Amino acid sequence: MNSIPYAQPSIGEEEIQEVIDTLKSGWLSTGPKTLQFEKSFAEYVGVKHAIGLTSCTAALHLALLAHRIGPGDEVIVPSFTFAASVNTIIHVGATPVFADISEHTYILDIEDVERRITLKTKAIILVHYGGYVADIDAFNALAKKHGLVIIEDAAHAVGSERKGKQVGSFGNTTCFSFYATKTMTTGEGGMVTTDDDAIAEHAQNLRLHGMSKDAWKRYAKGANWRYEIVAAGWKYNMFDLLAALGIHQLKKLPSFIDTRRAYAEQFKEGLGKIPGLILPPDSSDIRHSYHLYPIRISGGRRDGFIETMANLDIGTSVHFIPNHLQPYYRERGSKEGDLPITEKVFSEIVSLPLYPKMTPEEVSHVIQATKKALA
Ligand SMILES: *Cc1c(COP(=O)(O)O)cnc(C)c1O
Repeated sequence: MNSIPYAQPSIGEEEIQEVIDTLKSGWLSTGPKTLQFEKSFAEYVGVKHAIGLTSCTAALHLALLAHRIGPGDEVIVPSFTFAASVNTIIHVGATPVFADISEHTYILDIEDVERRITLKTKAIILVHYGGYVADIDAFNALAKKHGLVIIEDAAHAVGSERKGKQVGSFGNTTCFSFYATKTMTTGEGGMVTTDDDAIAEHAQNLRLHGMSKDAWKRYAKGANWRYEIVAAGWKYNMFDLLAALGIHQLKKLPSFIDTRRAYAEQFKEGLGKIPGLILPPDSSDIRHSYHLYPIRISGGRRDGFIETMANLDIGTSVHFIPNHLQPYYRERGSKEGDLPITEKVFSEIVSLPLYPKMTPEEVSHVIQATKKALA
């Protein structure tokens, strides 16, 4: 069997033709394809506004800005997430406050979150880790009680559902990623979704220099050359070359997720009875997209496992090295022992390769290799 990389995108002829069509159209930046992708994405999720961006990092940054979070404010965030969920809080001048996760779901532990709320707390960044969906009803109730905003980091959770509803349709503001390893990809790219007109308008202005809406049309034939700068905005606009990929990736998303779920089932059958091995969480309330397939290996064997798998030519990855243990955040005062569950889970966790481009035989191969590496 050939080597199995940790992640690979599924790009088909449709995406390739759409990119060629975009190149030939002469319009490469934000334009008709971006509008089309945004419209289809909003329809898919079941939300009023979808604003295309160049990354989920940009989405998180704009979501915080649109909610007027800034200096003096505290934002509660898991440490067990990608750096972007935390760095963007720094970008707006606010203070990240790390909270621990549930040992079962790897999602923020709501009781620990509540303990960390102060008069300065303005928002919670809720990460739907691995494609599992947080109990949003409980978090919305907590936010209401304390007057907080919830910003969902759904970088892993495009297409995941809770109680039959898509992620992005039940929170105030949700941020998605289309990075190359994500469930659907535009290479680099992201989206922020909301039902709130004011938040949408603010994010829309800020994504392109603070120009008032639709200013990107100024180079179109017959367009008005006048524009107004209403804020010192950023340069985060999704553009048609990316959207060309997104349009077709979105159409394929349901089948991508079906395949991921089938492979997760195959993993469960193959690895379900191994002592000391914990498989990813699931729940009857959710339709898990299995963006990740994180397993936990007890007894200090995780690092050796990664090495053995690499020797068997199988890529793995660790999601995530806790942010509170990173040098930048240590300098700001966090330290080992602050978040016991996060630290324990981090020492045991490793993500196996799982993506639609794999064949069932490759999944079997990963299962056999995992058993061998654990033996
Ligand atoms: C990938 C990722 C991001 C950042 O996404 P980009 O599109 O690369 O900016 C944010 N949060 C989480 C949890 C991620 O995994």
